[in-house]
Amino acid sequence: MNRYASTQNFMEYVQSRNVGQPEFHQAVEEVIDSLLPVVQENKEFQEAKILERVVEPDRIVSFRVVWYDDKGEAQVNRGYRVQFNNAIGPYKGGLRFDPSVNVSILKFLAFEQIFKNSLTTLPLGAGKGGADFDPKGKSNLEIMRFCQSFMNELAKYIGPDIDVPAGDIGVGGREIGYLFGQYKKIRQEFTGALTGKGPTWGGSLIRPEATGYGAVYFARNMLKFNKKDIAGMECAISGSGNVALYAAEKIIQLGGKVLTLSDSKGFIFDKDGINAEKLNYLHDLKTVRRGPLKEFAEKFNVEYHEGKKPWGVKCDLAFPCATQNELNGEDAKLLTGNGCFLVSEGANMPSTPEAIEVYKEMKVLYGPGKAANAGGVAVSGLEMAQNSMRHSWSREEVEDKLACIMSSIHDSCIAYGQTQNGVDYLKGANIAGFMKVAKNMVSFGVM
Ligand code: NDP
Repeated sequence: MNRYASTQNFMEYVQSRNVGQPEFHQAVEEVIDSLLPVVQENKEFQEAKILERVVEPDRIVSFRVVWYDDKGEAQVNRGYRVQFNNAIGPYKGGLRFDPSVNVSILKFLAFEQIFKNSLTTLPLGAGKGGADFDPKGKSNLEIMRFCQSFMNELAKYIGPDIDVPAGDIGVGGREIGYLFGQYKKIRQEFTGALTGKGPTWGGSLIRPEATGYGAVYFARNMLKFNKKDIAGMECAISGSGNVALYAAEKIIQLGGKVLTLSDSKGFIFDKDGINAEKLNYLHDLKTVRRGPLKEFAEKFNVEYHEGKKPWGVKCDLAFPCATQNELNGEDAKLLTGNGCFLVSEGANMPSTPEAIEVYKEMKVLYGPGKAANAGGVAVSGLEMAQNSMRHSWSREEVEDKLACIMSSIHDSCIAYGQTQNGVDYLKGANIAGFMKVAKNMVSFGVM
């Protein structure tokens, strides 16, 4: 069987080698669809088995994490680090602490990271990690003990030139602080082995904001390319964590109107638009106190829809910023039926394959996560550069660089994604991200 003859053939190969990993299959299929024509035309890539190698992680580390809860009872979790590909730089990608964490989810995230990191133009390889630990309802001391125990093992595998983790769902500035403190103690070194650090201990300004801001910059680039502007646009956002709240902040700064935010329990609809005062409250509620959005709805007297997603609301632009597969085919039909014409993904793989089909049919401007949310890892790359120089750039300098990187990602998508029906950003992002990695892998020989 010729593996390169069709997506289905190649996927049979991937599925047989990665049984029971549906999220990983989904992420690979989305990419292979775009890459097969490139590989079919390139003998060098075929001979070096680049496609087979690019879907195989360099290594996966899995380890036990034991810690004491506040009652003095020992708890056992499982930690992971997936080091997927370092063809263009040290492994780079976040850590996720969530009960849903498993090998399939981390492999999908690390795989996406290959293309995303390549698109940033920075020298960043791809990895992802985390644990099936649930930070919800844990005390500060429990979080600290968990992070220290997690780092006792992870420290063996990371370093500023080897693998540089950052945050993701459930891992924000506080957790990075505990992880960095423990790394520093074990290794006796103060280096940039993690990003998302505090600004007084090696962190970059704008890193917390970067993913959300970047997703809005990417939307602005798509709009500009179509002679439109974000000012006056009505926006639906999902999520209310780090990515969602900074996406909201940037939309408001650029004159757009934020109608919705959501969490794992439901969504809020604010017909007047969320303003800076409400956003301040939300930062405290969701990222410091980690309370439910319902509390916000009661305080500001806005609509709250328990157990629902925000995709039925009439809007112009949508920013899915919560989690994977949060927007399915039915949601996409509702969204586009109500006039939404642009989707910029702050989250990783939030749209299901069926939703992406609807975007295609409805000619929606669709910015896939690996392009639209690359701002976070891009500023992590800038944090690594500042750490190497032992120097810090100002907010303005970092934000300018972020805006330039997002424009350059948009340009790359256009360069590789032109079709008869306009720009296919998914195809453009996949091919542009792949080419650099594949060429480097060929240069290094078969190994
Ligand atoms: P946070 O933990 O800060 O926030 C996650 C948000 O999503 C919370 O509002 C949470 O609700 C909600 N959520 C989580 N799971 C679900 C679910 N199953 N259904 C509905 N809502 C859910 O994470 P981030 O903001 O950092 O990350 C959000 C997304 O962005 C993820 O896909 C992540 O991989 C991606 N991303 C993050 C980057 C970063 O720099 N942080 C970089 C690039 C991508 P609740 O409060 O109820 O838990």
